[in-house]
Amino acid sequence: MDTITIENAKTKRSVLQEKQTFFCFLGSFETDELASFFSDETFNAIDQTFNEYLDKKNAERIFHLGTPFSRLCGLSWHSTTKIVETNGQKREKFFLHEKIRQIVTECTDVVEKSDEKITKLVIIFSNKFSTIFGENGRGIFLLSKIIASTCFLSSYQFTDFITDDARKKKSNYTVYIGSTAENCEQIIDCGIKNGNIVGNAVNQARRWGDMPPNLLNPSTYKSEITNFFSSLRASCDIRFIEKEELKKLSCGGIIAVCEGSKHDPFMGIVSYTPAKKSASTKRIVIVGKGVTFDTGGISIKPADNMEDMKDDMAGSAVALAIVWAAAKLEIPHEVIAVVPVVENMPGGNACRPGDIITFYNGKTAEIKNTDAEGRLILADALSYASDKLQPDILIDFATLTGACSVALGPFFAAIMGKNKDLMRQLQEVGDIIGERCWELPLDDLFFPGVESEIADLCNIGKKNYRAGTIIGGCFLKHFVKDITKWAHIDIANVSMHPVGRPYLKGCGATGFGVQLITSFVSQIC
Ligand SMILES: [Zn+2]
Repeated sequence: MDTITIENAKTKRSVLQEKQTFFCFLGSFETDELASFFSDETFNAIDQTFNEYLDKKNAERIFHLGTPFSRLCGLSWHSTTKIVETNGQKREKFFLHEKIRQIVTECTDVVEKSDEKITKLVIIFSNKFSTIFGENGRGIFLLSKIIASTCFLSSYQFTDFITDDARKKKSNYTVYIGSTAENCEQIIDCGIKNGNIVGNAVNQARRWGDMPPNLLNPSTYKSEITNFFSSLRASCDIRFIEKEELKKLSCGGIIAVCEGSKHDPFMGIVSYTPAKKSASTKRIVIVGKGVTFDTGGISIKPADNMEDMKDDMAGSAVALAIVWAAAKLEIPHEVIAVVPVVENMPGGNACRPGDIITFYNGKTAEIKNTDAEGRLILADALSYASDKLQPDILIDFATLTGACSVALGPFFAAIMGKNKDLMRQLQEVGDIIGERCWELPLDDLFFPGVESEIADLCNIGKKNYRAGTIIGGCFLKHFVKDITKWAHIDIANVSMHPVGRPYLKGCGATGFGVQLITSFVSQIC
């Protein structure tokens, strides 16, 4: 499959020609600030075009961006010109990042749809503009990273099963990223590398989410995982706990949910260990729900949109992609994915409403609805992870409750936990990189809602407790030790069909969580 290439504009001066190139300029530039990038001929052409469009003040092509800087411009003399003027007011960083992502996506759209054989996209930002994102090179790094990762996100397409090449987007072009700052080549290289890794990690999570459930199931997922990590054998260890061992470990949740399927369940554990450990090395464990298809089981779901249930493994895909990115980025912390993988089908052996099962930590639960299966497999995975792996930080991602959508729409994942610091940190990172989380109260008032009269717990909440998303969190809390720093992130409403995020348009799945956690673990000291 063709993929785009990203290069440093500063070190590729000779190829940044007028021909076959779409240019985008971010920020306001002093006279001649751009001259060092281009040949005299190309620079003069840019300068002239700039001036012509500035004189016209073409209102349709003006964006408003809330920065203190005067102008944000993208232009080309092929077909499209964009001139962006600010309204002089500073807005939240989230909107600034999203605006950059939108502009980059509009540029990649032009290149991908061009009949003019545009093969190069040049994006150059002014030094002054990058300082909005941080001082002393930090802004240059972040801006190059955002631009690079967005190029990968927006060029994603799931075309494995499309046989007509005309329906596939152009992807054999090169993006050049540059800044007018002095001596910033290495920082830009670093931003591009980081954006490349994170963008491709998100795309892998999206790809698994988009794969059809006849081809991505508990039997095939194992080889997908092994292949994905094949180049990282030196730093990543892969282990699959198979059905018989899961039985011996008393992982009754994982066993029960997969009984109706012809595929055996497994629990994958993929561990990245940094080459050098130090006293400050932390162990971060990410548990991800991996239901490769959720029919609801005996409590079968309605037919409408049931095809979307192929994405009920999004949490596991995100967890695995995070470990891959951490290894590629050589993050100085241990990062471990724990993914319980099952297929929830009705059948002669399927678990029933009324069954009582025993989990890894010895607690029992009455199953009243076989469609509340995610918490059953996570119960085993979380109690295994908090017992055997002793994480410094434990985070789980799960497409857990439809109620999440009612509470938060398509924009915020729900975050719950007892550790306020951890949740605040995750929310702050998410607010900046565009994977936002909103805290719901995991308050003691809700806990009686998951009690059963004939077992320790019940897998659905008592009717008058309503709040389905919080009830899911309360159930999981029983499987995490009190001392563990833990956050539960319900992504049921954000893992598919994004709204208002044009750079995720390639197909259905979003990979929500990969950017959040890779940014988060990069910042832990
Ligand atoms: Zn379900």
